[in-house]
Amino acid sequence: MINLLDFDRDGLTRWCVEQGEKPFRATQLFRWIHQRGVADFQAMSDLAKSLRQKLVGQAHVVGLPVVSEHVSRDGTVKWLFDVGGGNAVETVFIPEDDRGTLCVSSQAGCAVGCRFCSTGHQGFSRNLSTGEILAQLWHAEHHLRQRLNLPEGERAITNVVMMGMGEPLQNYGALVPALRAMLDDHGYGLSRRRVTVSTSGVVPMIERLMVDCPVALAVSLHAPHDTLRDELVPINRKYPLAELLQACKAYLDAAPRDFITFEYCMLDGVNDQPEHAQALLDLVRGRVACKFNLIPFNPFPASGLKRSPRERVQAFAQVLQDGGIVTTIRKTRGDDIDAACGQLAGEVQDRTRVQERIGQRRSIALQPVSGLS
Ligand code: SF4
Repeated sequence: MINLLDFDRDGLTRWCVEQGEKPFRATQLFRWIHQRGVADFQAMSDLAKSLRQKLVGQAHVVGLPVVSEHVSRDGTVKWLFDVGGGNAVETVFIPEDDRGTLCVSSQAGCAVGCRFCSTGHQGFSRNLSTGEILAQLWHAEHHLRQRLNLPEGERAITNVVMMGMGEPLQNYGALVPALRAMLDDHGYGLSRRRVTVSTSGVVPMIERLMVDCPVALAVSLHAPHDTLRDELVPINRKYPLAELLQACKAYLDAAPRDFITFEYCMLDGVNDQPEHAQALLDLVRGRVACKFNLIPFNPFPASGLKRSPRERVQAFAQVLQDGGIVTTIRKTRGDDIDAACGQLAGEVQDRTRVQERIGQRRSIALQPVSGLS
């Protein structure tokens, strides 16, 4: 049986044509599934009865089983979805006055292994399919519409950030059709500015995304120079900062926003000194239009790292702002349900011994801050 959540509209059109159906049937189906949240073919009243019967034998629309749902005091909702094989991924809804943002996972675990990231410490199991990525949005949107009692046509989710578990650009083939369904006016109808892919810096895939589906781009920077970034974000050894910044600059030609967002997790005594802020300014100023988003670290025992004190984060932000870079400090949301950034751990069967590699690296103490050049 084919799961129709696995298709963007072009894919669904090809599949419908293969079944001997007219292409416009795919648009009808797509609207029922994604705009209205309907999984039962018999309820799709404008489809011919013969088609509905044919579909029942060949396809289905199946979301992911929900393992748990937690609602924070601040309205943040975290779902844990079962993706089989002992793996589970997390998805978080963050409501704000003017928007509802869904943070979506792209992999069961993550192979990048960033030092400060709880997902990275879980190791990596496998890529999610397009259907598994879209199922998170499909469930959240239609569940929240009911729960919030929204009028017909009003959306619960206005923004999607691919910032949950996994490195989305290491699952490119599944990611792009999922993004296209999010942007599709017959699907979720989100603008490119409201869909953000967050990457640790997979340079060749940034270049491809620019051509295939240029949505907003966020880059996990976390360090102003290669020596420290090699330790914190190991993919830097393959794609160092000079290459990454060049790719970001090029991306701006196609990006829906005229800046790249740089994420920077503030780690006590590691990357949070005024010298680091100054080095960041030297790195980006005049090279790439950007904003900084400083993220208070959410400590977890295996990391061996601590959160920077609030005053230091503010002083760091001030240096960047004085240097002419728009800088925000991320509000911590969903703390009480472990839904804050970097706290998404899910349940992962580590198939590629990422945990082992991280364990080895942990024995190499991070250098104190004086090592900046
Ligand atoms: S921060 Fe992102 S890329 Fe790094 S380990 Fe975590 S999920 Fe993977």
